[in-house]
Amino acid sequence: MPDSRTHLIHHPYTPPADFEAPQPGVFKASTVFFPNVAAMRTREWKDKSGYTYGLHGTPTTFTLEERIAALEGGQQCLLVPSGLAAIAVVALALLKSGDEVLIPGNAYGPNKTLAEGELAAFGIAHQCYDPMDVADLAARITGKTKLVWLEAAGSVSMEFPDLIEQARLCRARGVTCALDNTWGAGIAFNPFDLDGQGLGVDVSAHALTKYPSGGGDVLMGAVTTHDAALHLRLKLTHMRLGLGVGGNDAEAVLRALPSIHLRYHAQDQAARALARWCAAQPVFAQVLHPALPGAPGHQHWRQVCGAADARGAGAAAGLFSVMVDRRHASARVDAFCDALRLFKIGYSWGGPISLVMPYDLADMRQHWPAHVAQGTLVRFSVGLEAVADLQADLAQAAAKALG
Ligand SMILES: *Cc1c(COP(=O)(O)O)cnc(C)c1O
Repeated sequence: MPDSRTHLIHHPYTPPADFEAPQPGVFKASTVFFPNVAAMRTREWKDKSGYTYGLHGTPTTFTLEERIAALEGGQQCLLVPSGLAAIAVVALALLKSGDEVLIPGNAYGPNKTLAEGELAAFGIAHQCYDPMDVADLAARITGKTKLVWLEAAGSVSMEFPDLIEQARLCRARGVTCALDNTWGAGIAFNPFDLDGQGLGVDVSAHALTKYPSGGGDVLMGAVTTHDAALHLRLKLTHMRLGLGVGGNDAEAVLRALPSIHLRYHAQDQAARALARWCAAQPVFAQVLHPALPGAPGHQHWRQVCGAADARGAGAAAGLFSVMVDRRHASARVDAFCDALRLFKIGYSWGGPISLVMPYDLADMRQHWPAHVAQGTLVRFSVGLEAVADLQADLAQAAAKALG
């Protein structure tokens, strides 16, 4: 019998192999063992055919990658520690000094901040384009353009671009096209088949932090593709940057994935009910939700997301914004947010708790969008509480602060 100090590490017992249960096991590792030196020398990490080092994947992270690829209609997936890291690894893998990236003016803010910071410092230029004008995007594509970002719906102001024409344009001009697919989550539309004829984007970046996690307690991102060569390019950069995710976090997302469709549609229905209620309140000059008739890009939303729900209602994330009429000073709008009890003040979305956040749109855009009413923007992320309670909360806070 060895010394128990050794035995606690090298104990000979191995449990029987045929354990099956609803959830896949959680594997955590930096070191991975090889049976012999020859296996160490020949094992391949790039194609999921074996295990070499924790950073290159474990059974848990490989399983999650395959499920996210399936969710998004793609073929390959890479996991990264946040949604923003997904955006960053796409940029760093596909751009070099002298190149230019085009970003929609209503993109998730940190995408632009990355372009203004590291990308600019590396000699990579960027321009913001008008997401609601395909001709504006077309005019900005030059020989230097190596990446075009798309985002639908746009961050905070929620306009829905003509995704099909944008993707068609990128394909016609031979420019790699990446979509921030956090809003659609692989549910509202298929990013790799937008028109039912196979026209899609090249890369989908997804903040798994939102709907796939569903709990507001995990940060993670994914980069999904349907082209092996493009995936390998991204994977090599991913490896060189040392990006990886923890086994417990991957397990938390695996645990939440089976209910993602139910949660997405429930939050969608609740958000639409509240958006319609807000649209009837004179204190709100405009309600921004792409499924509302008359909303900016509503027809594009209908075209791309209209078939995603069996009842023909289309699908949308559980998010909407209101423009509080400009006769209310922004301090009153802050007081409205403070007066909410069920809606918590916080960033992010996709979790069970409803969230609210005021935004100064003038600070976030080069020009005030013509289709957005003047005022102060408040964005709501709708959780899984009862809709009547959320509506009563909005009503009491509006009466108190904006009455
Ligand atoms: C939240 C979010 C991100 C970033 O995700 P993190 O995991 O918070 O870094 C990127 N894009 C969109 C549209 C988001 O909503």
